[in-house]
Amino acid sequence: MTTATHEETLGFQTEVKQLLHLMIHSLYSNREIFLRELISNGADACDKLRYAALDNDTLYEGDSELRIEIEHDAGAGTVTVRDNGIGMTRDEVISNLGTIARSGTADFLKQLSGEQQKDARLIGQFGVGFYSGFIVADEISVRTRKAGSDKAEGVEWRSKGEGEFTVADIEREAHGTEIVLHLKEDAKEFADDFRLQSLVRKYSDHIEVPVRMPKVESARDDEGNAIEGSEITTWETVNEATALWSRPKSEISDEEYQAFYKHVAHDFSDPLTWSHNKVEGKLEYTSLLYVPGRAPFDLYERDGARGVKLYVQRVFIMDDAEQFLPLYLRFIKGVLDTRDLSLNVSRELLQQDPKVEKIRSALTKRALDMLKKLAKDKAAYQTFWNTFGSVLKEGPAEDFANREKIAGLLRFSTTHTDSATQDQSLADYVERMQEGQQKIYYIVADSFNAAKSSPHLEIFRKKGIEVVLLHDRVDEWLMSHLNEYDGTALVDVAKGELDLGDIEGEEEKQAQEETAKAKEDLVKRVKEALGDQVQEVKVTHRLTDSPACVVLPEHEMGFQMRRIMEAAGQPMPEVKPILELNPVHALVAKLESVDGEAFGDLAHVLLDQAIIAEGGHLDDPAAYVKRLNALLTV
Ligand code: ADP
Ligand code: MG
Repeated sequence: MTTATHEETLGFQTEVKQLLHLMIHSLYSNREIFLRELISNGADACDKLRYAALDNDTLYEGDSELRIEIEHDAGAGTVTVRDNGIGMTRDEVISNLGTIARSGTADFLKQLSGEQQKDARLIGQFGVGFYSGFIVADEISVRTRKAGSDKAEGVEWRSKGEGEFTVADIEREAHGTEIVLHLKEDAKEFADDFRLQSLVRKYSDHIEVPVRMPKVESARDDEGNAIEGSEITTWETVNEATALWSRPKSEISDEEYQAFYKHVAHDFSDPLTWSHNKVEGKLEYTSLLYVPGRAPFDLYERDGARGVKLYVQRVFIMDDAEQFLPLYLRFIKGVLDTRDLSLNVSRELLQQDPKVEKIRSALTKRALDMLKKLAKDKAAYQTFWNTFGSVLKEGPAEDFANREKIAGLLRFSTTHTDSATQDQSLADYVERMQEGQQKIYYIVADSFNAAKSSPHLEIFRKKGIEVVLLHDRVDEWLMSHLNEYDGTALVDVAKGELDLGDIEGEEEKQAQEETAKAKEDLVKRVKEALGDQVQEVKVTHRLTDSPACVVLPEHEMGFQMRRIMEAAGQPMPEVKPILELNPVHALVAKLESVDGEAFGDLAHVLLDQAIIAEGGHLDDPAAYVKRLNALLTV
């Protein structure tokens, strides 16, 4: 019996308590995953020791055969998971098994509702890890010692998962970690040889570290009966125990790829697709990249985990090596194993190594190709797009070289389907372009409905020209980095002169000029009435149903971006819109027939309404209401 000294009882961090509570209740139907999580941690610990031992192989303490062992005791109702990996110091135990250090955790936990199914999904996004042991155990004890430390520096951690845990110093011969689960009454089924073996195969086959289980064998007498007292225990490796990515593609089943994904991505659900490549030649690497089926909780956190798991010649180097993929592909998960970097590479060194840049651009291409392939499956791609589309939209700004490729992967709403679902590609649009149409037209608004009913679309609807409807927060910013697609210019219909190219005949253009001439006088009067509230007044042929609209000069920042900047506290220089009047509208005709105060009121009301239709805010809304009421009561 070990003697424990320096025993103290500490409380779990609030977030851990919340997570424990929710997890135990919402993951009940998924509870076998605890074994995967504990094996995954043991494998990580072995990876870390191998890495640390590169510099100092005394850390192995004479035992360099890394492994995980699983034992059970049906009588006692326990399952033990043991590794001879890196182990933990007392301080590490307290922080690793008492807190959750990831940023955004508190916010994440607030989203949990207490509804089992919903929370199970959310918790899957988060990755439950070590604490999942408490789904099946009512007490867990951990004994560990950091590799290379003194035998007296062992640590024991114990908890019932109810708010506090106890740590104590112990003597421990072996380095590494041993976790004993005291199974709950209704989870005793896990203390079973067959059950444990099949779980290891199901979840941990792909782990490179051997997972071993004891096998008891007896000598036999002449009649084939076991001789009592002759039992010997041998250890049998239960999993495949080769790094999955190093095996030939043809020998790996979809199930194995999926199981491996869950290990690298800390995700519960299956990935949407993956791409496994071995490259030889100037660069030598193997990559296995996955597109997850759902977003991690920290997708938009500045310091959220991203990047690939990096191995150099099969030796684990680091998690989240973010240098190998651009930010706009931060949702991609996977593994990179290369011969081109040295084993003692660090994050700092990665930033300077030119080979890293080369691999990064190769992986970026792989990832984009993988998405292109995924796009052939419309339903799967829609899931991808709804989950990660707004991240991919960051692409054209970040990655100039791949702008065209990314543009091909974007999906939008358009007037063609009039649906808020973003499921149309620019290629779809181009295919439907009319004869004589030379541009791709789009409009940006704050919501789908605002985009769809913008007065700017009237002429396009009349002529049956499709317009891309952009209504995501990032859209105007996206479009400012995307000037053309496949040689066709992209044009904001609410900015600059309206140019429908050859769709408008010469006659039409002439008629427009004549109308403009005929209304010169009116235009002048309106400009006088509105003063410097507008940059210019014109007659327009954009409109069919609305009396007026506002337009911005071609290179001016749009209304959406202005509002975002203003909301972020960035003062924006005032921009004066161009007011365009619909010469055939009854209100414009009425405007022509009045003068004095009524003229001024109506001119102002037309301007204000055009701004409102654009989703803009009026400087003086009360004045608008007053003028409108005055007009309503004449
Ligand atoms: P994650 O594996 O995602 O980091 P876990 O909850 O599974 O989260 O584990 C929390 C931390 O506890 C790990 O990051 C690791 O530092 C430590 N840990 C857990 N199990 C072991 C182990 N068997 N050996 C060494 N450290 C471990
Ligand atoms: Mg883990």
